[in-house]
Parts: sequence; C-alpha cells; structure tokens
Amino acid sequence: MQNAWSSYLAERAAIQRHSGRWRRRRTRCAGDGRRDFAGNDYLGLARDPRLAEAQAQGARRFGAGGRASHLVSGHLAVHEALEQQLAALTGRPAALLFSTGYMANLGTLQALCDPDTRVFQDRLNHASLIDGARLAGARSRRFHHGDLGDLERLLARAPGDGRTLVVSDGVFSMDGDVADIAGLAATSARHGAWLMVDDAHGLGVLGEAGDGCVGRVHGIERVPVLVGTLGKALGSAGAFVAGSKSLIEHLIQFARPYVYTTAQPPGVAAATLKALALLEAEPDRRTRLATLIARFRREARTLGLPLAASSTPIQPLVLGDSQRVMHWAAWLAERGITVGAIREPTVPRGQARLRITLSAAHTDADLDALLDALADCRAREALASGEASP
Ligand SMILES: *Cc1c(COP(=O)(O)O)cnc(C)c1O
Repeated sequence: MQNAWSSYLAERAAIQRHSGRWRRRRTRCAGDGRRDFAGNDYLGLARDPRLAEAQAQGARRFGAGGRASHLVSGHLAVHEALEQQLAALTGRPAALLFSTGYMANLGTLQALCDPDTRVFQDRLNHASLIDGARLAGARSRRFHHGDLGDLERLLARAPGDGRTLVVSDGVFSMDGDVADIAGLAATSARHGAWLMVDDAHGLGVLGEAGDGCVGRVHGIERVPVLVGTLGKALGSAGAFVAGSKSLIEHLIQFARPYVYTTAQPPGVAAATLKALALLEAEPDRRTRLATLIARFRREARTLGLPLAASSTPIQPLVLGDSQRVMHWAAWLAERGITVGAIREPTVPRGQARLRITLSAAHTDADLDALLDALADCRAREALASGEASP
C-alpha cells in the first residue's frame, strides 16, 4: 500500500512539473517593501488599521472563534447585523453569511441543483461555480464567454420544463471584463431560468454605492441569486448569498457547506461591518482607484503593451506563452514588484498572462515603478531576441 501511494504522488508531481504547471508559494513578511500588484485588495482596506481594531474588538467581545455552527449556537448578533447590512447594500430582502466564497458557491449550487437541474455556465466562470454544480450531480453546459447568442441556442435546445439555472461571474477574475447582466437576465427570463451571479470582484468596486455590477441596479427579479465575497475589495474574509427570504431559508435548511461548518470567527464579521461603514464614508477610495486604472491604461497603451478590454482594477497583460510570462514576472520581481503569473489550466493554453491588479492603496510612485519595470521587460525581451538572431 505504501508503494502505491508514494508512486502515485511521485507520478502526479512529475506530470505537473513536466507540463510546466508546478505551482509554488512565496512567503511574504509584513513590511517587506515589495509593491503588490497581484492581490485583490482593490480599496486598500485589508491593511487599514481600523479593520484590525474592529476585528480585535469583535474578538474581545464575542471570542476568537465561532465555537459552533450557525444552526447550533454559533450564530451571533454580529453575524446577524452583518447579514442585514449585506442585504441592504445589495438591495435584497435577505442575505446569508458563508465562511468563504468557495463554500458559498458550493453550498448554493448543491442546495439548488440535482441531476435533473439544467445548469448553464459561462466558460470562464470561477472554479468554485464549476465544482458546485458537480457536487450537486448536475451537468453543467458551458456557453462561450460572454456570448448571449450561444446561451440562447443552448437554452432553446433544452426541454422547456423543470428547473434551469444560468450562472455567471459578475467581473471575470482573470480577464477583468464585466458580464452583461441585463442581457443575461433577459435571456434567462425568456426561458424561465433563474440567473445566479457571483460578483466577487465587482462588490465594493462597481456600482454607485460600491454595491457591485448587480447590486441595486439589477434587482431580485433579474438576478434571484447573488453571491458576493468579502475577502477582496472589502478587505476581510467570508462571503454571502443575497436573495429572497425563501431562497435564504432554503439555503439554511439544505446547503450542507453552510449547515456542517463552524460559524465565521466573530471578529472577522466585525471587521467586515467596519469595511462596509468605510465603503460608505470614503467614496474617494473608488475615485482614486478609477484614476489609477485610467492612468495605467493610458501609459501601458503608449508603451505598446497588450492591454485587455477591462475597465476594472483587474488589468491583465496577455503575453500568450507561459515561459514569456514567467520571464516577465521574474524580471518584475527583481525590481520588487509582485504580479500574478497566470498559466493554464487557470486560463486556456496560449493565453498565459500577467494578472496585474490595482488598488486605491497604490501611490503614484508605485504605479511609476510598475510602468518603468514593464517598459524594462520589453527592452530586455527586445535585447534577448536581437542577441538570438545572427
Ligand atoms: C475569489 C473568488 C471566489 C472565492 O472566494 P473566497 O472567499 O476566496 O473563497 C469565488 N468566486 C470568484 C469569482 C472569485 O474570484
């Protein structure tokens, strides 16, 4: 038995290495002075001392741990208050807190779907949405990214009775483009399907009030199932599902990743409440972010960099080849700049990219350093190809 397992691990590792997919972690220290253009802390709230203070106060008041599941004795007043505020922010009657976005998606899809449910997903949806449908035993059909015509075609071919669910990211995490929510909603409605949107990267950033790309503009009739995460722009951790009271009650009854897990640590919920207060009190964070995005795009275009069609803080540079992405990321790292180096299977083959993300916490000097370093990457590459030719 020992041998079967060790050869299994060795084989899987070898395949992963040889296909260039080996992933590794880098340990970072607080205050190491590196410029981070890889995170999802779009509003600069994750390191705001007021969130840390709120978290400490929450822990002192309610305890460091959640102690039990929400249905046993873990559901505290701070969780209840947070759910009410998240419902208000997104203009929904109710919301349900989950410990992570991954679990929110698994739990929601598992509770809503079974092998009879027809699920249609955008091809670029987050892994947790794909895995959630699989957990439910539902078969997902994928439609071409952002292609309402393709969705329409698939829906038209599906039998007209029964439960159908259309699922999409709000802002696509590796591309930064925003889904056409009104179009998805209209197409879904024509075929009697429900629409579920995961707005992990839109919440806090998009919308008049930072309520995301769905938020208050697209109400519950258009988007009955809305997921948001709290570990990105809101700078803390966790996630929620917002919708009708009957949807939320259904999830409380049937979402196994909700029922069988310990409640979120109350300090985390307290930090998120603080983040929501700051979202409202400091709208200039979103203005600052918009200014940085516009400047990055203007100057990157001047440099001739391969910009994507994104107006959000996710600004990928699609370099194509995995090796090229690794070289650029290493050159940027030498200059103290961290970006995401994204390869397959996270993105399709031939679409490897630097995933650059902007944050309201970046200074003008940070952005100068990034743009300088990117110009330098181009220069180094030109030099290398010049040297290679005779
Ligand atoms: C990050 C992300 C998640 C997972 O959220 P976590 O809270 O980090 O587990 C889910 N969906 C999308 C689109 C994401 O980008």
